[in-house]
Amino acid sequence: ENSPLFNSGKGAVLTNAGRAELDASFMDGATLNAGAVGGVTTVKSPIQAARAVLEKSDHVMLTGEGANTFAAAQGLEVVENTYFHTERRRKSLENAKAKEKKNKTSSIELSEDDDYKYGTVGAAALDKNGNLAAGTSTGGMTNKRYGRIGDSPIIGAGTYANNNTCAVSCTGHGEYFIRYAVAYDLSAMMEYKGSSLAEAGDEIINQKLKKAGGSGGLISIDKYGNVSMPFNTAGMYRGYVLENGEVQTFIYK
Ligand code: ASP
Repeated sequence: ENSPLFNSGKGAVLTNAGRAELDASFMDGATLNAGAVGGVTTVKSPIQAARAVLEKSDHVMLTGEGANTFAAAQGLEVVENTYFHTERRRKSLENAKAKEKKNKTSSIELSEDDDYKYGTVGAAALDKNGNLAAGTSTGGMTNKRYGRIGDSPIIGAGTYANNNTCAVSCTGHGEYFIRYAVAYDLSAMMEYKGSSLAEAGDEIINQKLKKAGGSGGLISIDKYGNVSMPFNTAGMYRGYVLENGEVQTFIYK
């Protein structure tokens, strides 16, 4: 979230009104507890706000001004919205608006529409006790408006974790990930159908979503520590760290 390179926290994409509205969620696979914030504008770390919703409220999802107020009341760092803005995202917004004007249709843009390398930040983890957890933090889509919220803060769409199956965090065109309940579908295919993590991820991302026209991918780990990171775009920034310290990072297929 603190790196301007990713579409999350500082460097998040901008709305039609030129501000950052951030979405994040966090889920604990041991308890199925979850926390999420949608459309927050002043909390420096939306993922910390999501975790605070999980740990310190009776709720799962808070949005907008209420979520800003809750985060501040928890003592989380508060910033001006301009803290999140970068020149690069201002240019992307200008481009999206110019395109809209030319095509006379409204367009929301993925964070990197030129080469489809998504910038949402997610993590999925398994600890030595067999506990799984997942989190996702994003600025959503460039030129979004009307309080649009994507899949990232929706448990079962952009994030899911269950100790019986897997932990997963998604990136891509959120409207598709919501409608196809992608994160939960991965877990459900493993639980009900006996699919492996890799089989389920491949079927969802490269068949179901692709057929529907939904672009994106996911990062996932199962209860045995298998890692799978399928995507149906040209690239997706991704990486993993294994128990033995092995670290791998990738961009393209
Ligand atoms: N999934 C995010 C959203 O639709 C965007 C992204 O992953 O780049 O809000």
